[in-house]
Amino acid sequence: MPAPKSCVQCGKCLEVCPLFKATGREELTPRAKFFLESICAGDDQGAGLSERDFKSLASLCLSCGRCEKNCPQHMSGPALVTDLRAKSKGFTQACWDLWLKNPGLLWPMAAVLSKFSPEILPEPFGSARKRMQALFSRSLEPWADLVPQAKFEERKVMLFKGCVGRYARKDWSIKAERLMDGMGLIRGEDADFSCCGSSYGSAGLLERRNNSRAKNIEVWKDAGRPLLVTFCATCLKGLREYSLADFAGDEELYESWQECLTPLSSLLLDAEVKLRENVPEQVAYHKPCHAPDDDTDQKLVGLIAAERMLPVQEGLCCGFGGIMQLGAPELSKEVGDYSLAQHTKCMKSGGQILSGCSACVIQLVSLVKDDYFAAHWLDILK
Ligand code: SF4
Ligand code: SF4
Repeated sequence: MPAPKSCVQCGKCLEVCPLFKATGREELTPRAKFFLESICAGDDQGAGLSERDFKSLASLCLSCGRCEKNCPQHMSGPALVTDLRAKSKGFTQACWDLWLKNPGLLWPMAAVLSKFSPEILPEPFGSARKRMQALFSRSLEPWADLVPQAKFEERKVMLFKGCVGRYARKDWSIKAERLMDGMGLIRGEDADFSCCGSSYGSAGLLERRNNSRAKNIEVWKDAGRPLLVTFCATCLKGLREYSLADFAGDEELYESWQECLTPLSSLLLDAEVKLRENVPEQVAYHKPCHAPDDDTDQKLVGLIAAERMLPVQEGLCCGFGGIMQLGAPELSKEVGDYSLAQHTKCMKSGGQILSGCSACVIQLVSLVKDDYFAAHWLDILK
């Protein structure tokens, strides 16, 4: 039997952890998390750290997954944190659960209430207010038209809108559907998909995650296994993470699911681009932590922005971090501010930062300052 993996304290994860990059705090790094875990597992109280201290420290993680990719031992910060959160559910998880369980009712209500709350609020309410406004904000004038090429796909396609596209930014879904229709794709009826499950998983709400997965698989099967088109990098990652066990061990079904997951941008790379007069001078692409290796959102933004596109900076995290922005809003903001400072340090006033992840967009819109703008790439399209 192979020996269980363990952290060798090499520090490779420090090079990529956005929490460490933005704060310089060693105690937030994956290395520290695994070190503290080993102390707690050995029941060694020498560090003077209670189990509760350890859990609250270790739960400060953005679930970006960068540590795992850079670790020679393949140690996974997100897996450790998910496990801890699953074992010790608290008030923050209960709030997160409520927030995701009823978005159709809660999100619009919270957005309306946020307009009537005072400008300056103590944390975590101040950050929550800004995010609420960002969730529904449409501050960018479109500056490009895409004329998609016809696709002769025989199979039916369906749009997986994600929670944001379904309940808050319905305009993204409408634009996505219009683009799909423009390609001549056979679009199925709107279906009652659930959350992709990723937000539940990173919060340690594993039963909810599994229920969401089961519901989505059922809807997809009932619709005749259509291509599932997404416009959010985190949804795509969440859907790709479904395991063979979620398909009751049916390998053919599992393979078919994986093959059906299709980023919208991948269908648009041959589209004709027409720019309007209000095109910005400079555009930056914010690469989400959850972007796939073949990041077609980045390619599409490059295709549209062409010479206006600034070099893409790797390794910047928006700081949203799912449940972490509820439990540690200052830290979440610090990471987001750090990334925005990197994006804008060589950017002219009026520059736009585009991304293809709903969470990144909400976070960046809530933090962006001065004369800069943040948006989903769908926002720049008429
Ligand atoms: S978690 Fe991995 S990369 Fe980080 S210190 Fe441990 S072994 Fe090295
Ligand atoms: S998942 Fe990201 S934020 Fe969390 S410990 Fe790993 S690198 Fe740091």
